[in-house]
Amino acid sequence: MNSKVYLDHNATTPVDSRVLDVMLPYFSEHYGNPANNTHSFGKRAENAIEKSREQLSRLIGANPREIFFTSGATESNNMVLKGIPSFYEHKGNHIVSVTTEHKSVLCCCELHKKNVGKLTLLDVDNFGLIKTNDVEESLSDETLLLSVMMVNNETGVIQPIEKIGKICRAHGVLFHSDAAQAIGKIPFNVESMMVDLVSISSHKMYGPKGVGALYMKKNKPRVHLTPLIDGGGQEDGIRSGTLNVPAIVGFGEAAQIAMERLKEDGLRLIAQREHFEQGISDQLSNINIIGYTSRRVPGTTNISFSGCNGQNLVKELKGLAVSSGSACNTSNVEPSHVLTSMGLDYDSAMGAVRFSLGRDTTDADIEFTIGHVIETVKKLRTSI
Ligand SMILES: *Cc1c(COP(=O)(O)O)cnc(C)c1O
Repeated sequence: MNSKVYLDHNATTPVDSRVLDVMLPYFSEHYGNPANNTHSFGKRAENAIEKSREQLSRLIGANPREIFFTSGATESNNMVLKGIPSFYEHKGNHIVSVTTEHKSVLCCCELHKKNVGKLTLLDVDNFGLIKTNDVEESLSDETLLLSVMMVNNETGVIQPIEKIGKICRAHGVLFHSDAAQAIGKIPFNVESMMVDLVSISSHKMYGPKGVGALYMKKNKPRVHLTPLIDGGGQEDGIRSGTLNVPAIVGFGEAAQIAMERLKEDGLRLIAQREHFEQGISDQLSNINIIGYTSRRVPGTTNISFSGCNGQNLVKELKGLAVSSGSACNTSNVEPSHVLTSMGLDYDSAMGAVRFSLGRDTTDADIEFTIGHVIETVKKLRTSI
């Protein structure tokens, strides 16, 4: 399989060439340990880390002191979902999340329940959205934390984060958002969204893999958590371990570039996606663009082709890199939990393919994909 057109940017993105350029000197030239800053090697690394912290904080409207570097959004999610109930154990043991979250959140939720914590998972409607009424009703005196992803990785649907943040703040409940699919794609501001904790991933925004961050609010309220990883006390003792300096430097640059390009990329991706969806709808009947009427991030579309199996379709779409179901468990033949939660029946969920466009997607890529998808779906439908 030799894919030529990559439309799987929600699984991961290529490292921007400007990002790679700023990273390279930090491998074998400026290789100091930022924790050993009594000499120039360490000092140089420390300065680079602090620059990245500033670049990232600017992208989300935070203070640099509120940014903690991690190995990615999976780790950040684990830190929150495990570390908050542990730290605030005396206050209660109820957490609230949503059925369509990423597995790294859902697994921690299940673990919390297994450890005899209380758990509420909110349902979504056919549009992929939770209802603010349900949020309000789920909260009790025992509730410590509400965790709602900003943008769903499979559908691109955007949850009403500001409204949920307001409810949480009014009830004194900590609010976490897994924003791995939001940051770098749409404007994000921790103040206006009233979030207390945010998970961020570098490789979803044209930075290197294996690095991410947790935003944790420092004032009104100051948020605490029990660390997952103890040791040398790096990152204010919240996440020990020698920092991955080259990756963090790249992550910071990726944040800077995202800020510069966000608007322009967004407009282009919306136009490309609309053209794509129109092209497919014009030529194929019985398709369902999932979450079509909801607010979605630019560049993501998930389409269910009735009478086709998504996995077969993905296999038949040679020269095209796309995902069926969730990319994180491709060996799994179960329908996606996100799509079934949205009320899709088994066959529709199994017939879904996610196309996620990105910064490097050209109009020619879109034309190729439209033609290829139409031809392949028609072929598969007649072969039944
Ligand atoms: C990719 C992704 C993650 C995991 O991020 P990593 O940095 O790969 O650990 C978590 N949540 C969402 C919504 C994602 O898309």
